[in-house]
Amino acid sequence: MEEQAAGLLALVCAKTGGEINTGALYRRADLERVRDAKLMLHCRFCRETHLFRFADARLKPIDGNKPPPSTGTD
Ligand SMILES: [Zn+2]
Repeated sequence: MEEQAAGLLALVCAKTGGEINTGALYRRADLERVRDAKLMLHCRFCRETHLFRFADARLKPIDGNKPPPSTGTD
């Protein structure tokens, strides 16, 4: 009965469907608890700051083999 479905929280842009990786580690239960929450973030897809809903957020599996796709300056 181990519910260790943890992952890195990615907030999804409602307009473009783009994912913003927050790097925050969440369990599925944690995400359920805050699904009514919203967060104001700068969206690199829209190039503006808008609200992201945790209800739309996804948990990305943690893959220890691959480094995060950091492109540095954009
Ligand atoms: Zn956006």
